[in-house]
Order: sequence, then structure tokens, then C-alpha cells
Amino acid sequence: MTDPAAPVLTIDGPSGAGKGTVSRIAASRLGWHYLDSGALYRAVGVAASWANLDLSDGAALVRCTFDTAIGFREQPEGDLRVIVNDVDATDELRLETTGAVASAIAAIPEVRAALKDRQRAFRQPPGLVADGRDMGTVIFPDAPFKVFLTASAEERAERRYKQLKDKGVSVTIDGLLREILARDARDAQRTVAPLRPADDAVLIDTTGLSIDAVVDRVLALVR
Ligand code: C5P
Repeated sequence: MTDPAAPVLTIDGPSGAGKGTVSRIAASRLGWHYLDSGALYRAVGVAASWANLDLSDGAALVRCTFDTAIGFREQPEGDLRVIVNDVDATDELRLETTGAVASAIAAIPEVRAALKDRQRAFRQPPGLVADGRDMGTVIFPDAPFKVFLTASAEERAERRYKQLKDKGVSVTIDGLLREILARDARDAQRTVAPLRPADDAVLIDTTGLSIDAVVDRVLALVR
């Protein structure tokens, strides 16, 4: 059950703006719960791929959303594993191809509606840090603390490049930049819950800022 009295800090923005890292550190410093809403869309994307669903078959994707069991398991060292239908899908979840499938699925209004309550259920005492695209606008419009993180597309592509290179994945910056721009456009132009800052969100441009500097700014809002 969701607890409307629990405070929520929403952190929205495009991919690569640093939301995930900043949200996780902020949640841990505050001792609050953490919702990675993108992981839910990615989990449905993975389940749809496993079932060989056609991305143009909206009805099948909506059924898949309802039927997919998604669990989060925190490891002792702080790592968060995502379990899809009893299978640890964490590594598959992070692939660029999964992100692209998630973004296509996320444009379907019934899929978004089906995931609404699952996201709101994370609102539990002592508080929640919610990371996504529409946390401040649609899922938790009454959140007392809202942030919208941005960064130039070039810097986001570079950050992603470093992350993937560290993991041994071979990609090019140009390819990543193209994917990021395509995903931004799709996320911003969809008719349902397009990516945009809530009217009452604080905008932070993270271009050239360290993670610590961004976390400090975000936590200053809450404290
Ligand atoms: O944040 P992440 O890259 O994991 O999200 C994957 C995709 O899921 C995004 O490109 C976006 O299309 C979708 N998404 C969304 N709403 C959210 C979180 C993610 O539409 N709250």
C-alpha cells in the first residue's frame, strides 16, 4: 500500500543526465527508498523480447505488462538486481537495445497506466527518491521536492561511453550520440507523459558538474 504521507523527491530528466547515480546516492544519504522507474519499462521490454512479441502489437504488450512479475533485490554491497519472472535480468536490462525497446513500449498509454500503481506503491516511510521521466508530472504530482536534471547531449553520450567501456562493451561515441538524440526525441514527442519538467521542478544542468556537486544541490532542497 502506498503511503501518501511519505515525502517524495522526484528526479526526472533525459537519459545520461546522471539521474540514476544521483538518485541512488541521494536515497542512501537520506535513508529513503529508491524507485528506478526506467527499470520497470526495461523489465517489460525484456519480457516482451523473451516472448518474441511484435513491438507493433500494442494489445500483446499491454498483456505482457500485466503478466510480468518484476522484483528488486538489494545485494549486501548495495547493488540492485532486477528479477523479471523469477530470472535475474539485471545485465540484459542495461543493454542499449533494451533501452530502445523500453522507450518504444513506454509510448503506449495502457502500458504506462498499467505501471502507475506499481510505481506509487514504492511511496513508503520514511520517504522515496523516484527516478524517471514523469515522476514529478504524472506519478507523484504532489511530491514536495522535484528536480529536473539535464546535460548536453554530447556530455551524456560521453558519460555513457565511459560507463559502457568500463563494462567492456564496445560502442562508439557517435553511435551513442545518435541513439541518445533519437531516444530524447521519442520521449519528448510522445503524446502520453512526454518528457518535460514539472512546473514546480528545480532545473539543474549537470554539464561540467561532478556527481557530488549535483547530489549536494539536490539534497540542499530536501534539508
Ligand atoms: O531511465 P531509463 O533509460 O532506464 O528508461 C528507459 C526508457 O523507459 C526511457 O527511454 C523512457 O522511454 C522510458 N521511461 C519512461 N518513463 C519513466 C522511466 C522510463 O517513459 N518514468
